[in-house]
Amino acid sequence: MSEQPAPDATVPAVLAAARETLTAAGVADPAVDAALLLAHVLDTSRGDIQLKETLGHVLSDAERDAFAAVITRRAAREPLQHITGSAPFRYMELLVGPGVFVPRPETEIVAQYAIDALWAVAAPEPIAVDLGTGSGAIALAMATEVPHSRVVAVERSVDAHAWAAKNVAHVGATNLELRNGSFVDALDDLAGTVAVIASNPPYVPADAIPRDLEVRLYDPKEALYSGADGLDDIRVISGVGLRLGHAGATIVLEHGEWQGADIREILTKDGWMAAATHQDLTMRDRVTTAVHP
Ligand code: SAM
Ligand code: GLN
Repeated sequence: MSEQPAPDATVPAVLAAARETLTAAGVADPAVDAALLLAHVLDTSRGDIQLKETLGHVLSDAERDAFAAVITRRAAREPLQHITGSAPFRYMELLVGPGVFVPRPETEIVAQYAIDALWAVAAPEPIAVDLGTGSGAIALAMATEVPHSRVVAVERSVDAHAWAAKNVAHVGATNLELRNGSFVDALDDLAGTVAVIASNPPYVPADAIPRDLEVRLYDPKEALYSGADGLDDIRVISGVGLRLGHAGATIVLEHGEWQGADIREILTKDGWMAAATHQDLTMRDRVTTAVHP
């Protein structure tokens, strides 16, 4: 007699149970995460999971166990992207895991400002830099979406640099050079030649502990915190940008929604022109740009 699958092994049943577990664990988007994790386990798309949910598809014991295991990890607030091993960023799927900052949707807007500035440069091979590249997100977006540009990305953390190197190979960008070092001095050979200086630096004030456990427990500390007001790195980057950029170069900085005015003041005092703050898709101040004198 053939064994019948347990009655709770249908996709609608396991998804409902997973949503309940994730909700109880305080996960922000339980339904989305449950569906994406099942798609990951079954090596399929989220659309296919919706179809399987509608059709009442039955999981094998191995599939059900594998799904239960990833739901347990997610309920412990391990980031979704660490479990799936990848994070979507613009047109790419970037490889991520322990030791690297998970790229965020709001940074896609930051990348857009950098890409637009790069496209506007009247030069055959404009140079862009990404200071503190993490997974390589902004640098890879610039390199792939502005194929005639030359991008140089720098990352100080050895672990994050290794993830960026994997992503450069994975995406296959040949116009991107990755360096391991500090943005304070690792790009000095480019002085006066750079058209776009982009950065999503650490900007969280030292005493502002992030609310989300995923951020607090899994994003590297050196990716988040930057002195008492969160602006220490941006003060440094303003000076670095003035050294690296040529006249008319654009600086594009990501920051917290409350920091726009302070950053415009830092940049303007240092000599940058036309400092302006822009909003993300949730209408929060998120990006400040300025033009090299
Ligand atoms: N740019 C990536 C993104 O948007 O997803 C990562 C941003 S994360 C908020 C900031 C990154 O800057 C971290 O990877 C951190 O290790 C790096 N970093 C901090 N200080 C640095 C420095 N002095 N030189 C180079 N990288 C630095
Ligand atoms: N936006 C990040 C957070 O979720 C902070 C990123 C940064 O410091 N660059 O806390």
